[in-house]
Amino acid sequence: MTDDSGPSDTLEQWKAEMQAEHEREITNPDPEERHEIEGVAQINYRVYFEYDAETDSLDRSRTEQVNELEDPELLSCRCGVRGMTPEEAKTHVRAASDSS
Ligand SMILES: [Zn+2]
Repeated sequence: MTDDSGPSDTLEQWKAEMQAEHEREITNPDPEERHEIEGVAQINYRVYFEYDAETDSLDRSRTEQVNELEDPELLSCRCGVRGMTPEEAKTHVRAASDSS
């Protein structure tokens, strides 16, 4: 009835289309491409500094690893599909090996 619902409906529709496109890419891998799942993981370090009064500078004295390397939550494929959960990534490589 009001125009208020217009933009959010459009947004919802856009999101649904993006999701559908994402699923198409996952389940229909391009047979011409190479498929290899990858992701970026971070290890954090705490870095300690010592103040050097002579040069008025902070010098890195030591580092301490804060966390272990963990698998990233979202994965990509070499072919360009991004933002896959591990389950979606498995679906993608399974589909890729089926079609080759
Ligand atoms: Zn792929």
